[in-house]
Parts: sequence; structure tokens; C-alpha cells
Amino acid sequence: MKICVTGGMGYIGSHTVIELIKEGHEPIIVDNLVNSNPEVLNRIQKITNVKPKFYQIDVRDEEKLDDCFKQEGFDAVIHFAGLKSVGESVKKPDLYFDNNIGSSKTLLKVMKKYNVKNIIFSSSATVYGVPKHVPLVETDPVGQAANPYGQTKIEIEKILINEAKQDEKMNIVLLRYFNPVGAHESGLIGEDPNDIPNNLMPYITQVAVGRLEQLTIFGNDYPTKDGTCIRDYIHVVDLALGHLAALKAIKENWGLKIYNLGTGKGTSVLELVNAFNQANNLNIKYQYGARRAGDVVVNYANADKALNELNWKATHNIVDMCRDAYLWQKQNPQGYKK
Ligand code: NAD
Ligand code: UDP
Repeated sequence: MKICVTGGMGYIGSHTVIELIKEGHEPIIVDNLVNSNPEVLNRIQKITNVKPKFYQIDVRDEEKLDDCFKQEGFDAVIHFAGLKSVGESVKKPDLYFDNNIGSSKTLLKVMKKYNVKNIIFSSSATVYGVPKHVPLVETDPVGQAANPYGQTKIEIEKILINEAKQDEKMNIVLLRYFNPVGAHESGLIGEDPNDIPNNLMPYITQVAVGRLEQLTIFGNDYPTKDGTCIRDYIHVVDLALGHLAALKAIKENWGLKIYNLGTGKGTSVLELVNAFNQANNLNIKYQYGARRAGDVVVNYANADKALNELNWKATHNIVDMCRDAYLWQKQNPQGYKK
């Protein structure tokens, strides 16, 4: 299939492009590079021997996107493009609404014009808000967004759900990611945050290579087994393969589907740090600090629906995630900037 991959130069998108190529698909990347580096294309080529076609386009730019769709004739779209920093979204909510919701609307409009009926969207577990129970199932209510980033995910889901109601020929898959971490096993591509990382795993890997002094664990007095928060970390390659499984499952008049992509296992911050040390024979320096405002205490997925309907499940464990994340950072201490 010929697939438009918006945001395909980014962390999850680039890993998915590799798996698409491996499966014999033709991914075509649409990305404005606002949070990615052109070097990604060379790395994809190194891994797959294929340099995917790349359009440097802002998805909000309807004219350019229209040209791209006219030229390519896509079978499906995987829509990763979006801004994802929670902290930045609080400071610049309008930018997040415009970029994330605006690009999704433009994309849908152009898809309609060119009769492209299949779309997979990168949603997030953040749409559940503060969980009333765990594990989270897809039928759980969408909650109150904790920040503008989360609000954009809820809004885009609504737009897509509405679209599926209006056009029964549309096949729309909302994938709710839990916590993607790790990197391709080659260590050639991985997560490359612009500033000091907000997320746990890139923070740990940057401490590991000496870019950062020590990790601060935000809170050790939560009502959990070791007092630190619990998340469902999922290897980015498993996540990428979830998109391929969804693509394979799409058939005519399939309509709207929602899946959690997680492992179904909760891991505490302290457990992740210990696994990282074990996987890489290191001793990451850390201290305990105050709780981070707005943190959910425990969050993990029930991923049975994806298993039953897509025949997908995560196969990498926490140690695999820590090993691959470190290999990437060790080989690329400054990320793609070298
Ligand atoms: P990323 O920032 O690495 O990749 C996103 C890509 O989209 C970047 O290459 C960026 O340049 C591009 N982009 C942003 N706005 C654009 C626009 N208007 N036009 C064209 N390109 C644009 O992020 P990621 O971690 O790979 O996340 C991919 C998607 O998955 C995002 O939608 C994100 O919100 C979602 N998601 C990520 C996580 C996570 O923890 N990484 C969790 C849940 C959901
Ligand atoms: N965390 C931490 N120190 C950091 C970054 C994160 O202790 O420098 C904790 C954070 O409080 C949360 C967990 O690690 O409990 C995962 O945080 P992340 O931001 O990666 O994911 P999210 O909270 O968005 O699920």
C-alpha cells in the first residue's frame, strides 16, 4: 500500500516507516521538521536500504498537501504529525490547538477530496484523564484533559468519530498509546528531544551518557508498592507494529475502531531505573524530589482488544526497552545533531 505518513520523521513515525518498508509498503513522509531532523532519512536508508520519499510540508498548508495527495494517490494515512510537549502546551495553548487540531482538519479535508478512506491516528492514554480504575479499557469514558496537549487529542478524536458517523465508508482507527520508549535495535534511530527531556526514559539515557548530572524522581510517597508512579512503558517497535496490525485489519466499511496500545503491565519509576541499570550494567545517579503537578499515580492498559481484533501484542520487555534506548543514546550522545 502507498501510505502517507504525517510526522514520519519523528520518533514514533520513523520507527513505523521502517516497519512499513519491511512489510513491502510504500510509506511517503509528510513532515515540516518542526521537531525532527533530516538525518532521519539517511538512518532509515541505512536500516532498510530504501530512502523514503519525503515532502517537507506543514500539514496545515492545504495547497501543498493537496499537491502531494494529487501526485501520490495514497491508499491510507497514518497521522503522527503534532506537537507533544505537555509543558509547552500549557505555555502556548493556541499553538497546540492550531497545529494539532488545525493539521488534522486540513488532512481530513484533503483526504476527502482525493477519496482516501483509511486513517490511523496517534492518540494517547492521556484522553482517559485521571483513571478511576486500572487497567484502562477502551470503553472507559474519555476524561477531563489535564493540559492543552491532552485537550487536542480529545478534540481530534471527536472530529474523527464525527467523521466516521457522517461517512460510513471512512475507516478510522484511533490508537491510544501508553508510554512509548526504547529505540530500533540498530541504535541508529531513537528519541531525540530538543531541550532537557520532560519524559523519564530520555532523561535517564542522558544521565547515562553524562549529558545530565542526575535524575530527579518526582515523588516517592505515592500509594504504590515503592512510592513512585506507575506507567505502562511500551517498546517503540512494538508500537510501530501496532500500526501495521491496524493497517492489515482495515477492510471496507470497517468504520471507527479504538485500541489501547500498551503492554498491560505497570512499572514504577524506581523499577524502570533498576531495569535500566541491570540491562546496561550502570548505576544511574538519582535523587528524590517533589511530586510533579498533575501526575497520574497509576496508569496502565488493558490491551486485550488489540490482541483479539488485530492479533497484536507487545513482545519486548522492560529490559529490552532499556537496552535499546541506551544503545541509541550511547551511539548518538547528542542525538541526530552529533
Ligand atoms: P515527534 O515530535 O518525535 O514526531 C512528530 C513529528 O510531527 C515531528 O517530526 C514534527 O516535525 C512533525 N510535525 C509536527 N507538527 C507538524 C505539522 N503541522 N506539519 C507537519 N509535521 C509536523 O513525536 P512522537 O513521539 O513521534 O509522537 C508522534 C505522535 O504520537 C504525536 O501525535 C504524539 O502526540 C503522539 N503520542 C506520542 C506519545 C509519546 O510519548 N511519544 C504518546 C502518545 C501519543
Ligand atoms: N518522571 C520522573 N523524573 C523525570 C521525568 C519523569 O520521576 O525526570 C516520572 C513522572 O513523574 C512519571 C513517570 O516518570 O511518574 C513517567 O513520566 P513521563 O513524563 O515519561 O510520562 P507521563 O507522565 O506523561 O506518562
